[in-house]
Amino acid sequence: LVTRMRAFGTTIFAQMSALALETGSVNLGQGFPDTDGPAEILEAATRAINSGHNQYPPGPGVLPLREAISEHQLTYYGLDYDPNGEILVTAGATEAITAAILALCEPGDEVIAFEPTYDSYAASIAMAHAVLKPVRLDGPDFALDHDRLLAQVTDRTKLLLINTPHNPTGRVLTETELGWIRDLAVERDLIVITDEVYEHLVYEGVHRPLATFEGMRERTIQVSSAGKTFAVTGWKVGWVCSTPELVSAVTTTKQFLTFVNAGPLQYAVAEGLRLPPERLAEVGQRLKAARDQLAEGLTSAGIPPFRCQGTYFLTSDVSVLGYDDGVDFCFDLPKKVGVVAIPSRLFYLDPGPAKSYVRFAFCKKPAVLAEAAERLARLR
Ligand code: PMP
Ligand code: GLN
Repeated sequence: LVTRMRAFGTTIFAQMSALALETGSVNLGQGFPDTDGPAEILEAATRAINSGHNQYPPGPGVLPLREAISEHQLTYYGLDYDPNGEILVTAGATEAITAAILALCEPGDEVIAFEPTYDSYAASIAMAHAVLKPVRLDGPDFALDHDRLLAQVTDRTKLLLINTPHNPTGRVLTETELGWIRDLAVERDLIVITDEVYEHLVYEGVHRPLATFEGMRERTIQVSSAGKTFAVTGWKVGWVCSTPELVSAVTTTKQFLTFVNAGPLQYAVAEGLRLPPERLAEVGQRLKAARDQLAEGLTSAGIPPFRCQGTYFLTSDVSVLGYDDGVDFCFDLPKKVGVVAIPSRLFYLDPGPAKSYVRFAFCKKPAVLAEAAERLARLR
């Protein structure tokens, strides 16, 4: 069947998770934790179901969650969003980003995004008949190149879609880099979608939302989600914070994608966002130790990872093992040693030196990472 989106096929994450099951491999491919988030929110979800919050929630999301998101933005970033009109709850960050692109892009409009690009971006841009204009971040440090950013701007540029902390590289944008994006957006009157799903999974450096820069609150669509912060990726509760005008535009498209979502879970996420900061930070602390453990395992296996400041992911260059293509490596790895990983080149239109980069997820229990390290050591 010839369909418009056929080129996107089945996502690499679904393919590799299936391969992990089939081969009994340790799955360091798709980024999902093997430990659920704080007990408080799991209990809150059950309570919400048992107390009858099981019908359609209100269009913008349940008020306690919108209030909790508003408080969270104020407490952590000093950003002030009105729960009535400036916050919309979505089916994960994925829907938030898709709904924003569909709301704002006309056919042929251009969306600038970092490359490697999280897989749903290219698909959502294609659904809107818009065009992805990638700005490549190169290893080893994956810094933003100012000239490369400016070179992608044209008269058709409509949106910037930025992701920090960045999947798959683990990079956290610096103040200087954010400043370049701010200056460009203000000068060219552009709207920026900021994908901040890993905002609380930062191990080095600081996450600063672009909306905190002068002139940016009114042109930023801030996106985040509960999945990563609370280690509940299956809940798919995300949100958008922006101006009433932009939130209303995104709401119009969201209405006809899912209408509303995850009623009872919204109450639980509200409780999660109100956890004391030390408790909220615990998921990140556990993951920092996991990052260090897997980094050591990859180094011992002869494929030392690049620096990673945040997210769930480490990246290694497997060319040192004689592979010039990470796809070949990732299809050999389960058979050879029983580990699944993701070839980073699939996140690029033109991977350049990243053709041999491979992404490993470390959001796993210490025993699982130890087993993976033992298996990876057989590569030597
Ligand atoms: N953006 C990035 C960068 C991600 O890594 C992910 C998910 N893993 C998402 C968006 C999607 O988040 P959600 O599950 O909340 O839709
Ligand atoms: N965001 C997760 C990752 O990067 C996967 C989510 C998905 O499978 N769509 O691995």
